[in-house]
Amino acid sequence: MPNYDGVIIGAGHNGLTLAAYLSLAGLKIAVVERNSHIGGGTSTHEPLLPGYKFNLHSNFFMGFGNSPLINDLQLHRYGFSYIEPPVQQAATFRDGSCVVIHKDLEKTCNSLSRFSKSDADTFRELYHLYAVKMKPLLGSLMYNAPLPLDQLRDRLSGPEAKEFLSHAEHDLFSVVRKYFVDDRIRTLFSSYMHVIATENQPGAGMVFPAIFSNVTGFTLPVGGAVALPNALRRILEEGGGKLILDSEVKEIKLESGKAKSIVLDDRTVIEANYFVASAIDAPTTMKMINERVFSDEARSKLDNWHWGNHSLVTLHLALKERPIYKSREFDADIDSAFNIFFGMDTIEQVKQCFEHCEQKKFPDVLMGNGACNSSLDPSYAPSDGHSAFWWPFAPYEVDGKSQNWDDQKDYYLDCILNNWREYTTNLREENIRGKFLFTPLDVERLNINMRKGAVRMGAYIPSQLGINRPHMELSSTRTPVEGLYLCGSSSGNGGGVNGAPGYIAANAITNDFNFQRPWNPVSLPEWKN
Ligand SMILES: Cc1cc2nc3c(=O)[nH]c(=O)nc-3n(C[C@H](O)[C@H](O)[C@H](O)COP(=O)(O)OP(=O)(O)OC[C@H]3O[C@@H](n4cnc5c(N)ncnc54)[C@H](O)[C@@H]3O)c2cc1C
Repeated sequence: MPNYDGVIIGAGHNGLTLAAYLSLAGLKIAVVERNSHIGGGTSTHEPLLPGYKFNLHSNFFMGFGNSPLINDLQLHRYGFSYIEPPVQQAATFRDGSCVVIHKDLEKTCNSLSRFSKSDADTFRELYHLYAVKMKPLLGSLMYNAPLPLDQLRDRLSGPEAKEFLSHAEHDLFSVVRKYFVDDRIRTLFSSYMHVIATENQPGAGMVFPAIFSNVTGFTLPVGGAVALPNALRRILEEGGGKLILDSEVKEIKLESGKAKSIVLDDRTVIEANYFVASAIDAPTTMKMINERVFSDEARSKLDNWHWGNHSLVTLHLALKERPIYKSREFDADIDSAFNIFFGMDTIEQVKQCFEHCEQKKFPDVLMGNGACNSSLDPSYAPSDGHSAFWWPFAPYEVDGKSQNWDDQKDYYLDCILNNWREYTTNLREENIRGKFLFTPLDVERLNINMRKGAVRMGAYIPSQLGINRPHMELSSTRTPVEGLYLCGSSSGNGGGVNGAPGYIAANAITNDFNFQRPWNPVSLPEWKN
């Protein structure tokens, strides 16, 4: 094996983001991936019938239109594009009503007013504050390494900043109650917060502004989520770098205390002139080093990493006609909505669903979101069909053990489909060409670092967020080992498709080794108002 300037473990979108940026900076990079395909949580598959494409993990690229990756890396030149649907989201209820969130603020407020005039006014205020005015701040928080709270307080001042920081005093439900009065609208926003893998703990309210800032920024990758890693791979290869598939990294070797090489499952050694970066989970990365280089406190935290109480179980359908929701009688705009929530009618049911997940039970009330991508981008299905999915929340160890997902797959599939049918008029057997259940156990099988079906490589709880992700020693993507960096979702600002951990690591590495950067890093967070 030739020497590379840097070696990256894992060809998910974060590993490849780091690789693409550093290729742009003129470095020769190797990316090593254990699967035979790239993308990790941004892969696209055809498990049912030819031409029916399904994003088995990430489907909603939230706020991706504001990502620095798009312009810095000129992603459109490498085949990546996205659609930002005008009707962004909807929540439909058993009584036939629905709330619809449009890109057009007035249309959204009209929809919310049918439930509560005061909630419509609140939405308008929050939208102006977080989705417009403070959006640059939220972007700079996302694309910079997390700062300790005292430093953040110094950089953010004034009444708006105070209000922004006050969300840390809330849990997930209290922050929604603080703003909204109508139970349906509260139900929508509390489910929405859970979607981002947040668990209900004191302090969890802090994610509210970030979530709200993207409430109308959901994008669909054209042709499949895999279009993003494919574009990043082209940049890597254009820069002379190499992608090595079907190779599992087993060990990171140090020399004189510096990260020097990696060892693959077939004992091949790949050396790095400058750095090794891990885009997989921090606990596994730690175990790949045979020396005690992290503090006892960091080791103990990573040994007890909380993967999360809830995962997602997805029912993918290859259909003749797209799903039609009964609530179109109430608001016909649901016909063109991208992300659709259903299953929950009250905030109590939302709470109960997550309690059942925590208790490792198949929830009595199945709730979650889904989409029919082919109705927005025809390339997701053959011309005479549609691909659609719904992913209710569910625990990894269902009814006590994860093996139950395999043993009782047909039973769980039927429960999910029957729930979906309650909201639709046309999910009859004659409309369905194929059904595929992708369980939390399958999530872990396909993507080994999504341990216990972890949607974001580790739950979003205050002790695993901000500078605590994964631990204070490691939160800037740098580690106590010279030349070793973390660039996956269990570091930086967490998971989701945004490339932020990869981007932050690219800035740290170019900084540490004085490499020329042909891009301008996102400025540090600042707010004086
Ligand atoms: C069901 C589900 C739905 C989701 N939906 C959304 C969504 O709609 N929107 C959103 O923004 N996010 C969503 N997510 C989360 C999102 O998919 C992840 O946060 C994101 O893909 C993580 O990217 P990453 O590059 O950090 O890691 P990954 O994509 O997990 O990439 C890590 C890569 O490393 C490889 N690897 C692991 N171990 C080794 C090893 N030892 N050697 C070599 N390679 C290794 C893996 O095979 C993988 O390819 C979803 C997740 C799940 C599970």
